[in-house]
Amino acid sequence: MIQNKAPGKDVSLEDMAEKFPLASKKNNTHFSKFDIGGITFGDSLIPIMAGPNMVESEKLIVETAINVKKAGAHFLRGGAFKPLSFPYRSDKYTETREEGIGWLGVAKKETGLGIITEVMEERYLDLICEVTDILQIGSRNMQNYPLISAAAKTKKPLMIKRHFGASLRDWLGAAEYALYEGNEKIILCERGVTVPHTHRDSSRFLLDLQVVPAAKEITHLPIAVDPSHATFWRPWVTPMSLASVAAGADSIMLEVHPDPENSAVDPLQPIDFDSFKKLMQSMDKVAHINGRHILNV
Ligand code: PEP
Ligand code: MN
Repeated sequence: MIQNKAPGKDVSLEDMAEKFPLASKKNNTHFSKFDIGGITFGDSLIPIMAGPNMVESEKLIVETAINVKKAGAHFLRGGAFKPLSFPYRSDKYTETREEGIGWLGVAKKETGLGIITEVMEERYLDLICEVTDILQIGSRNMQNYPLISAAAKTKKPLMIKRHFGASLRDWLGAAEYALYEGNEKIILCERGVTVPHTHRDSSRFLLDLQVVPAAKEITHLPIAVDPSHATFWRPWVTPMSLASVAAGADSIMLEVHPDPENSAVDPLQPIDFDSFKKLMQSMDKVAHINGRHILNV
Protein backbone atom coordinates (compact mmCIF):
# COMPACT_ATOMS: atom_id res chain seq x y z
CA MET A 1 0.00 0.00 0.00
CA ILE A 2 1.25 3.50 -0.68
CA GLN A 3 2.66 5.66 2.06
CA ASN A 4 2.69 9.30 1.01
CA LYS A 5 2.81 8.78 -2.71
CA ALA A 6 2.46 5.71 -4.89
CA PRO A 7 5.89 4.79 -6.24
CA GLY A 8 6.48 6.71 -9.44
CA LYS A 9 2.82 7.45 -9.95
CA ASP A 10 0.81 10.59 -9.65
CA VAL A 11 -1.61 9.55 -6.92
CA SER A 12 -1.29 10.90 -3.37
CA LEU A 13 -2.96 9.84 -0.14
CA GLU A 14 -4.95 13.08 -0.32
CA ASP A 15 -6.26 12.05 -3.75
CA MET A 16 -7.36 8.73 -2.32
CA ALA A 17 -9.14 10.38 0.58
CA GLU A 18 -10.63 13.37 -1.21
CA LYS A 19 -10.62 13.05 -5.01
CA PHE A 20 -11.63 9.40 -5.40
CA PRO A 21 -12.54 7.95 -2.00
CA LEU A 22 -15.03 5.51 -3.54
CA ALA A 23 -12.56 4.07 -6.08
CA SER A 24 -9.74 3.82 -3.52
CA LYS A 25 -8.86 0.71 -1.53
CA LYS A 26 -9.66 0.89 2.17
CA ASN A 27 -6.86 -1.55 3.00
CA ASN A 28 -4.34 -3.87 1.32
CA THR A 29 -6.79 -6.72 0.87
CA HIS A 30 -9.73 -4.67 -0.35
CA PHE A 31 -10.69 -5.89 -3.85
CA SER A 32 -14.23 -5.70 -5.23
CA LYS A 33 -15.97 -8.85 -6.36
CA PHE A 34 -19.26 -8.65 -8.22
CA ASP A 35 -21.52 -10.74 -10.35
CA ILE A 36 -22.58 -9.91 -13.90
CA GLY A 37 -25.07 -12.42 -15.26
CA GLY A 38 -23.66 -15.27 -13.20
CA ILE A 39 -20.00 -14.44 -13.94
CA THR A 40 -17.94 -13.09 -11.04
CA PHE A 41 -15.42 -10.32 -11.66
CA GLY A 42 -12.55 -9.72 -9.25
CA ASP A 43 -12.33 -13.33 -8.08
CA SER A 44 -10.30 -16.35 -9.18
CA LEU A 45 -12.02 -16.48 -12.59
CA ILE A 46 -10.62 -14.18 -15.27
CA PRO A 47 -13.66 -13.49 -17.49
CA ILE A 48 -12.92 -13.20 -21.21
CA MET A 49 -14.82 -10.82 -23.48
CA ALA A 50 -14.40 -11.71 -27.14
CA GLY A 51 -15.88 -10.80 -30.50
CA PRO A 52 -15.50 -8.62 -33.55
CA ASN A 53 -14.59 -4.97 -33.49
CA MET A 54 -17.91 -4.11 -35.10
CA VAL A 55 -21.24 -5.92 -35.26
CA GLU A 56 -21.08 -6.10 -39.04
CA SER A 57 -24.04 -8.39 -39.70
CA GLU A 58 -26.35 -10.80 -37.90
CA LYS A 59 -24.59 -13.76 -39.49
CA LEU A 60 -21.14 -12.57 -38.40
CA ILE A 61 -22.08 -11.84 -34.81
CA VAL A 62 -24.02 -15.08 -34.31
CA GLU A 63 -21.26 -17.20 -35.88
CA THR A 64 -18.66 -15.43 -33.73
CA ALA A 65 -20.76 -15.81 -30.57
CA ILE A 66 -21.13 -19.57 -31.14
CA ASN A 67 -17.40 -20.00 -31.72
CA VAL A 68 -16.08 -17.85 -28.88
CA LYS A 69 -18.51 -19.54 -26.51
CA LYS A 70 -17.29 -22.95 -27.64
CA ALA A 71 -13.73 -21.84 -26.84
CA GLY A 72 -14.79 -20.76 -23.33
CA ALA A 73 -15.44 -17.00 -23.62
CA HIS A 74 -17.71 -15.47 -20.98
CA PHE A 75 -18.97 -12.35 -22.83
CA LEU A 76 -19.50 -11.34 -26.44
CA ARG A 77 -18.04 -7.98 -27.44
CA GLY A 78 -18.91 -5.94 -30.52
CA GLY A 79 -19.64 -2.31 -31.33
CA ALA A 80 -22.79 -1.19 -33.11
CA PHE A 81 -22.19 2.46 -32.25
CA LYS A 82 -18.52 3.01 -33.09
CA PRO A 83 -16.08 5.88 -32.51
CA LEU A 84 -14.65 5.46 -36.03
CA SER A 85 -11.57 7.67 -36.40
CA PHE A 86 -12.59 9.23 -39.72
CA PRO A 87 -15.98 10.46 -40.96
CA TYR A 88 -16.03 8.75 -44.36
CA ARG A 89 -18.18 5.65 -44.82
CA SER A 90 -18.42 2.84 -47.38
CA ASP A 91 -20.86 -0.07 -47.59
CA LYS A 92 -18.51 -2.07 -45.38
CA TYR A 93 -17.05 0.64 -43.14
CA THR A 94 -20.26 1.86 -41.58
CA GLU A 95 -21.82 1.57 -38.15
CA THR A 96 -24.78 -0.77 -37.87
CA ARG A 97 -26.27 1.19 -34.94
CA GLU A 98 -29.86 0.18 -33.97
CA GLU A 99 -29.79 -2.83 -36.29
CA GLY A 100 -26.47 -3.96 -34.80
CA ILE A 101 -27.86 -3.77 -31.27
CA GLY A 102 -30.73 -6.01 -32.45
CA TRP A 103 -28.22 -8.53 -33.87
CA LEU A 104 -26.35 -8.59 -30.53
CA GLY A 105 -29.72 -9.50 -29.01
CA VAL A 106 -30.06 -12.40 -31.45
CA ALA A 107 -26.53 -13.64 -30.62
CA LYS A 108 -27.31 -13.43 -26.90
CA LYS A 109 -30.50 -15.46 -27.36
CA GLU A 110 -28.72 -18.09 -29.47
CA THR A 111 -25.78 -18.59 -27.11
CA GLY A 112 -26.71 -17.24 -23.69
CA LEU A 113 -23.51 -15.17 -23.68
CA GLY A 114 -23.57 -11.83 -21.86
CA ILE A 115 -23.01 -8.78 -24.05
CA ILE A 116 -20.63 -5.83 -23.78
CA THR A 117 -21.09 -2.99 -26.25
CA GLU A 118 -20.13 0.67 -26.43
CA VAL A 119 -22.41 3.61 -25.76
CA MET A 120 -21.32 6.94 -27.18
CA GLU A 121 -24.40 9.09 -26.69
CA GLU A 122 -26.78 9.32 -23.77
CA ARG A 123 -29.82 9.25 -26.06
CA TYR A 124 -29.11 5.62 -27.03
CA LEU A 125 -28.74 4.33 -23.46
CA ASP A 126 -32.29 2.93 -23.19
CA LEU A 127 -31.99 1.04 -26.47
CA ILE A 128 -28.53 -0.38 -25.68
CA CYS A 129 -29.54 -1.34 -22.13
CA GLU A 130 -32.32 -3.56 -23.51
CA VAL A 131 -29.63 -5.90 -24.82
CA THR A 132 -26.31 -5.29 -23.12
CA ASP A 133 -25.05 -6.68 -19.82
CA ILE A 134 -22.09 -4.28 -19.61
CA LEU A 135 -21.97 -0.74 -21.01
CA GLN A 136 -18.58 0.05 -22.53
CA ILE A 137 -17.32 3.61 -22.21
CA GLY A 138 -14.72 3.90 -24.98
CA SER A 139 -11.28 5.37 -24.51
CA ARG A 140 -12.28 8.52 -26.37
CA ASN A 141 -15.13 9.14 -23.93
CA MET A 142 -13.19 8.45 -20.73
CA GLN A 143 -13.54 12.10 -19.78
CA ASN A 144 -17.09 12.55 -21.06
CA TYR A 145 -18.37 12.85 -17.49
CA PRO A 146 -22.04 13.52 -18.36
CA LEU A 147 -22.05 10.30 -20.43
CA ILE A 148 -20.38 8.30 -17.62
CA SER A 149 -22.82 9.65 -15.03
CA ALA A 150 -25.85 8.90 -17.22
CA ALA A 151 -24.54 5.40 -18.03
CA ALA A 152 -23.86 4.73 -14.33
CA LYS A 153 -27.39 5.82 -13.39
CA THR A 154 -28.87 3.00 -15.50
CA LYS A 155 -27.33 0.60 -12.91
CA LYS A 156 -25.90 -1.53 -15.71
CA PRO A 157 -22.29 -2.53 -15.02
CA LEU A 158 -19.80 -0.25 -16.78
CA MET A 159 -16.39 -0.89 -18.28
CA ILE A 160 -14.40 2.33 -18.59
CA LYS A 161 -11.53 2.14 -21.08
CA ARG A 162 -8.49 4.25 -20.28
CA HIS A 163 -7.89 7.12 -22.65
CA PHE A 164 -4.57 6.61 -24.47
CA GLY A 165 -3.24 9.81 -22.91
CA ALA A 166 -4.71 9.49 -19.42
CA SER A 167 -2.81 9.12 -16.18
CA LEU A 168 -3.89 6.63 -13.56
CA ARG A 169 -5.22 9.60 -11.58
CA ASP A 170 -7.45 10.75 -14.46
CA TRP A 171 -8.69 7.20 -15.07
CA LEU A 172 -9.68 6.80 -11.41
CA GLY A 173 -11.43 10.17 -11.61
CA ALA A 174 -13.61 8.76 -14.39
CA ALA A 175 -14.38 5.68 -12.24
CA GLU A 176 -15.28 7.95 -9.33
CA TYR A 177 -17.94 9.67 -11.46
CA ALA A 178 -19.58 6.28 -12.01
CA LEU A 179 -19.24 5.15 -8.37
CA TYR A 180 -20.62 8.51 -7.20
CA GLU A 181 -23.93 7.60 -8.90
CA GLY A 182 -24.20 4.55 -6.64
CA ASN A 183 -23.16 2.05 -9.31
CA GLU A 184 -20.66 -0.37 -7.79
CA LYS A 185 -20.12 -2.62 -10.81
CA ILE A 186 -17.31 -0.72 -12.49
CA ILE A 187 -14.50 -2.38 -14.44
CA LEU A 188 -11.46 -0.43 -15.68
CA CYS A 189 -9.77 -1.45 -18.94
CA GLU A 190 -6.22 -0.66 -20.07
CA ARG A 191 -6.06 -0.55 -23.91
CA GLY A 192 -2.71 1.04 -24.74
CA VAL A 193 -1.22 4.48 -24.39
CA THR A 194 0.38 6.86 -26.86
CA VAL A 195 4.15 7.22 -26.56
CA PRO A 196 6.55 9.26 -28.70
CA HIS A 197 7.57 6.16 -30.63
CA THR A 198 6.40 2.58 -30.83
CA HIS A 199 8.01 -0.41 -32.49
CA ARG A 200 6.44 0.02 -35.89
CA ASP A 201 4.56 2.75 -37.73
CA SER A 202 1.27 0.87 -37.63
CA SER A 203 1.40 0.22 -33.89
CA ARG A 204 -0.43 3.21 -32.59
CA PHE A 205 -0.29 2.39 -28.90
CA LEU A 206 1.92 0.80 -26.28
CA LEU A 207 0.27 -1.64 -23.87
CA ASP A 208 0.88 -0.20 -20.40
CA LEU A 209 1.05 -3.43 -18.44
CA GLN A 210 2.65 -1.70 -15.46
CA VAL A 211 -0.64 0.06 -14.89
CA VAL A 212 -2.21 -3.25 -13.82
CA PRO A 213 -0.17 -3.65 -10.60
CA ALA A 214 -0.02 0.14 -10.21
CA ALA A 215 -3.81 0.47 -10.33
CA LYS A 216 -4.19 -2.42 -7.89
CA GLU A 217 -2.11 -0.53 -5.32
CA ILE A 218 -4.70 2.22 -5.35
CA THR A 219 -8.12 0.85 -6.38
CA HIS A 220 -10.28 -2.13 -5.43
CA LEU A 221 -11.93 -2.19 -8.88
CA PRO A 222 -11.23 -5.05 -11.33
CA ILE A 223 -8.68 -4.16 -14.02
CA ALA A 224 -9.23 -5.54 -17.54
CA VAL A 225 -6.76 -5.40 -20.44
CA ASP A 226 -7.50 -5.16 -24.18
CA PRO A 227 -4.35 -6.33 -26.01
CA SER A 228 -6.09 -6.08 -29.42
CA HIS A 229 -6.53 -2.32 -29.39
CA ALA A 230 -3.19 -1.78 -27.68
CA THR A 231 -1.05 -3.71 -30.15
CA PHE A 232 -3.15 -3.05 -33.25
CA TRP A 233 -1.22 -6.00 -34.72
CA ARG A 234 -2.42 -9.62 -34.81
CA PRO A 235 0.93 -11.39 -34.18
CA TRP A 236 1.40 -9.46 -30.92
CA VAL A 237 -2.06 -10.25 -29.49
CA THR A 238 -1.19 -13.73 -28.15
CA PRO A 239 2.06 -12.77 -26.36
CA MET A 240 0.53 -9.61 -24.90
CA SER A 241 -2.60 -11.46 -23.74
CA LEU A 242 -0.44 -14.00 -21.90
CA ALA A 243 1.59 -11.16 -20.40
CA SER A 244 -1.63 -9.42 -19.30
CA VAL A 245 -2.82 -12.51 -17.46
CA ALA A 246 0.63 -12.88 -15.87
CA ALA A 247 0.53 -9.22 -14.82
CA GLY A 248 -2.66 -9.82 -12.85
CA ALA A 249 -5.39 -8.64 -15.21
CA ASP A 250 -8.87 -9.44 -13.89
CA SER A 251 -10.43 -9.74 -17.35
CA ILE A 252 -9.25 -9.74 -20.97
CA MET A 253 -11.04 -8.21 -23.95
CA LEU A 254 -10.08 -9.66 -27.34
CA GLU A 255 -11.05 -9.05 -30.93
CA VAL A 256 -12.02 -12.28 -32.66
CA HIS A 257 -13.36 -12.41 -36.23
CA PRO A 258 -14.27 -15.31 -38.59
CA ASP A 259 -12.20 -13.71 -41.37
CA PRO A 260 -9.80 -11.29 -39.60
CA GLU A 261 -8.20 -9.84 -42.73
CA ASN A 262 -11.61 -8.77 -43.93
CA SER A 263 -12.76 -7.21 -40.67
CA ALA A 264 -14.63 -4.00 -41.54
CA VAL A 265 -12.68 -2.12 -38.87
CA ASP A 266 -9.01 -2.50 -37.80
CA PRO A 267 -8.35 -5.67 -39.89
CA LEU A 268 -4.75 -5.91 -38.63
CA GLN A 269 -5.73 -6.79 -35.06
CA PRO A 270 -8.44 -9.49 -34.79
CA ILE A 271 -7.50 -13.16 -34.36
CA ASP A 272 -9.41 -16.09 -35.89
CA PHE A 273 -11.43 -18.75 -34.06
CA ASP A 274 -8.64 -21.30 -34.03
CA SER A 275 -6.05 -18.86 -32.63
CA PHE A 276 -8.59 -17.75 -30.03
CA LYS A 277 -9.20 -21.32 -28.90
CA LYS A 278 -5.46 -21.92 -28.52
CA LEU A 279 -5.00 -18.61 -26.74
CA MET A 280 -7.78 -19.45 -24.25
CA GLN A 281 -5.96 -22.66 -23.34
CA SER A 282 -2.61 -20.88 -22.99
CA MET A 283 -4.08 -18.01 -20.95
CA ASP A 284 -5.71 -20.56 -18.65
CA LYS A 285 -2.30 -22.16 -18.01
CA VAL A 286 -0.77 -18.79 -17.15
CA ALA A 287 -3.76 -17.97 -14.93
CA HIS A 288 -3.10 -21.16 -12.94
CA ILE A 289 0.39 -19.86 -12.04
CA ASN A 290 -1.33 -17.00 -10.22
CA GLY A 291 -3.93 -19.30 -8.62
CA ARG A 292 -6.62 -18.18 -11.06
CA HIS A 293 -8.41 -19.73 -14.02
CA ILE A 294 -10.15 -19.01 -17.31
CA LEU A 295 -11.49 -22.38 -18.39
CA ASN A 296 -13.41 -24.79 -16.18
CA VAL A 297 -10.58 -27.30 -16.23
C1 PEP B 1 -13.53 -0.90 -28.95
O1 PEP B 1 -13.29 -1.65 -27.97
O2 PEP B 1 -14.32 -1.21 -29.85
C2 PEP B 1 -12.85 0.41 -29.03
C3 PEP B 1 -13.22 1.31 -29.93
O3 PEP B 1 -11.85 0.54 -28.14
P1 PEP B 1 -11.08 1.85 -27.64
O4 PEP B 1 -12.12 2.78 -27.08
O5 PEP B 1 -10.15 1.31 -26.62
O6 PEP B 1 -10.36 2.44 -28.83
MN1 MN C 1 -7.95 -24.19 -15.89
